[in-house]
Formats: sequence, structure tokens, C-alpha cells
Amino acid sequence: MTDETAFRAEVLAFLEATLPPKGAAVETGGTGVTRSVAFQRQLADAGLAGITWPVEYGGRGLPGRFQRIFDREAKAFQVPPRALEIGLGMCGPTLLVHASEEQKQALIPPLLRGEHIWCELFSEPGAGSDLSSVQTRARLDGDEFVLDGQKVWTSGAQHSDYAACLTRSDPARPKREGITMLIVDMHSPGITVRPLRQMTGDAHFNEVFLDGVRVPASNVLGDIHDGWRVARTMLAFERQALGGMGAGGGGKGGFAALAAEARRRDLSNRPALRDRLVQLRIRQMVLQHLSGYLQVKARAGDGAAASLLKLAMAQLVQESALVAVEVAGMGATAWAPTDPEGDRWCSQLLSAQSASIGGGTNEIVRNVIAERLLGLPRDEEGDLMPAQVTTGAH
Ligand SMILES: Cc1cc2nc3c(=O)[nH]c(=O)nc-3n(C[C@H](O)[C@H](O)[C@H](O)COP(=O)(O)OP(=O)(O)OC[C@H]3O[C@@H](n4cnc5c(N)ncnc54)[C@H](O)[C@@H]3O)c2cc1C
Repeated sequence: MTDETAFRAEVLAFLEATLPPKGAAVETGGTGVTRSVAFQRQLADAGLAGITWPVEYGGRGLPGRFQRIFDREAKAFQVPPRALEIGLGMCGPTLLVHASEEQKQALIPPLLRGEHIWCELFSEPGAGSDLSSVQTRARLDGDEFVLDGQKVWTSGAQHSDYAACLTRSDPARPKREGITMLIVDMHSPGITVRPLRQMTGDAHFNEVFLDGVRVPASNVLGDIHDGWRVARTMLAFERQALGGMGAGGGGKGGFAALAAEARRRDLSNRPALRDRLVQLRIRQMVLQHLSGYLQVKARAGDGAAASLLKLAMAQLVQESALVAVEVAGMGATAWAPTDPEGDRWCSQLLSAQSASIGGGTNEIVRNVIAERLLGLPRDEEGDLMPAQVTTGAH
């Protein structure tokens, strides 16, 4: 039985030896992805990757409160961006729920060690909110599926080794009964990844074309034609992960960075803006407390709790970006080329727009909350993806 005090000391020793403290000036070489991968390996070497994951797949097998101890201590350090979240927060937990024993043994240990990066091949040009309309065809040919189709908005596909891919395996069945979730090796012949440039200038997500991609039938996640159930689990994990990511910060650098900017700008003559800052801080603190409660409910399989968390996160991130721009004034639209952080408030404002779209739009998560939490009548369509989210575990 691991003792909490001893665990806290172990975590602190690891963090002090591995990461610079917050506020320290350091040269951070590499991209967000390379730094996340390196950090994940260090976590694994220290026995701290997958604190709550089963021991037999490389985790530590501890209760959730030990992860919270880690999270609390890590707040004082410069932790790399969570660039592996699709694997660690969405695909991996879904594997734990639906994968065969053989799949778990093969795929989870390298995921936890940061050796495999994962992406989510769900959305298509004609299937976003109405996800069960996916058209990417999976035809069984002997002991392999052959995939043809197109995915879009695939975050991190350019770095990925594996994908959870939602496919249409039987077009003759009712649409939610003809879907199969496949584990796809992203290095397979026939896969083309084409970056999509966002208004921030980054190319975070991609179009992915699948032309005759051969996937072993043993790579079905869950059962053939039962992929919708697996997708629901993963969507709930996705909202939980996205909601959790926003809960601590409310913007790049969190509230501390915004408060520092406000102090630099001297807001003594701007009471209305100071009030907005305080309101933002209050909302952020409420969300932090609420998120602990909602995370527990979401982990226990409450898909509506994950949606609530995700909606609150999206609103906080966007409000925070707007307040930051007002605080920074002209500094948010123009900056000295010598200032490496000069675009901070501007890029935060641009990227915040995605918070109310990715992982289910605000309208869709409101539908889930209305139907599942408030007991209001179902969406007339009754066929839209997020209203179906009940989750196997997420
Ligand atoms: C940053 C980011 C990262 C993403 N990463 C991934 C990824 O890795 N993998 C992946 O598969 N997808 C990803 N997506 C795609 C994302 O899941 C979809 O964009 C999202 O589900 C919305 O689908 P859509 O874009 O097709 O919009 P649509 O579904 O066409 O919606 C258009 C508008 O109609 C509204 N609407 C639709 N249906 C209803 C309804 N029933 N009631 C009320 N309003 C409705 C929506 O709210 C929206 O405002 C990402 C998106 C973003 C922004």
C-alpha cells in the first residue's frame, strides 16, 4: 500500500530533478510534441506514467487521489504542453474499456512510455456533430479490412503512429449499427496526411485520406459493427480530458500570467476592467472546485458531467482571452519583433475560438446537458452523436 506522504515526496523529488520551477527563465528546445514525449519517458522511467492505470499494462495502479497529488505538486513546475493527450486521455482509456487482452498488452505499455503517439480519426467533411453519418468505408477482405475515405480536423495526425478510426463497415444496416472502430497504423501504405492551416498560423490539425488502407481484422476495437458504442466511450473521455485541461488555467499561462500583465499595465483608473478580472478569477476558482467533483462523476461514466465540464471550460477560456486582450490593449495587436512572447495575447484570442468547437460544439454539449441532466425532451433528430453519449467509462 503506497503511503500518500511518501508518494508526495517521491513526486516532488522527481519534479525537482526533471523540470524547472515556474517563473525560472529557461531555454526550451524542441517542439511541444518532442518535449511531451521526452517528459512522458521520464515519467515512465520514474514509475509515474499512468499513476491510476493497471500495473499489468505499465501503470502504477493507484487510486485517483494519487494522480491529484501529482497534479497539485506539478503546478509549481514548467510542465511541457499536454501534446499526447489524445493518446493518454482519450484513446488509451478507451482501450482499457473495450480492447482485447492481447491489444491491451501490445498497445498500452508503449502508449504510457510515450513511444506511440495516437490520433482520433472521427470527423469527416459530412460527419461532425452528426458523427454517426461517417462514410469512410471498411470492407472485409479475407482477414483484413480495406479502408477508403476521408477524415478531417485530425489533431496531431502528422506525428501519430496509431489512430482510433471510426468506419462504416455495413452501409445496409441502420447507421449506428453499421459502424466499426479500427485501430489503424498511421504508417500504413495508402494514408496521406495533409495539414490544415488555422487562423493562428499553426497547422495543428489535418485532412487524412485513406486509399485502400489494409488493416488486420484483429485490429477491431470492441466488436465488428459495434463501433458506435466504442465511439461514445471515447467522446465522453474526450470531453473529460478537454474540460480538465481548461479547469486549471483559463488561458495560456493561467490567471497568474494575466494578473502579471494587469499589474504591468496599471489598471488603477479602470475599475470596470478590474471588476471583470476579479469575476474571471472567481469563475476560474469555481470551475477548479467543480471540476474535481465533475471529473469523479465523469470517470464513473457520467457523460453529461463531462459535457458540463467541457462547456464551462470553453466559456472560461474564451472569456479569459477577451479580458486578456482588453488588459493588454494595443500590446495585443502589435509587438516588438524582439519580444518572443509578443504574440501571446493575440494567439490566445485566436486559438480560444476552437474551445467551443473541438470535442463537440457548445450547442451540442448543451443538448446533452439539457437531455441528460435537466431531463428535457430529446433533440427531434434523435440521431445526433453527442446526445447519445452515455460512455462505457469516460
Ligand atoms: C481544435 C479542434 C481539434 C479537433 N480535433 C479533432 C480530431 O482530432 N479528430 C476528429 O475526428 N475531429 C476533430 N475536430 C472536429 C470536431 O469534433 C468537429 O469540428 C465538431 O464535432 C463539429 O463538427 P463540424 O465541424 O462538422 O460542425 P457541424 O456539425 O457541421 O456544425 C456546424 C454548426 O451547427 C451546429 N449544430 C449541429 N448540429 C446541431 C444540433 N443538433 N443542435 C444545435 N446546433 C447544431 C453546431 O453547433 C455548429 O455551430 C476538431 C475540431 C477542432 C476545432
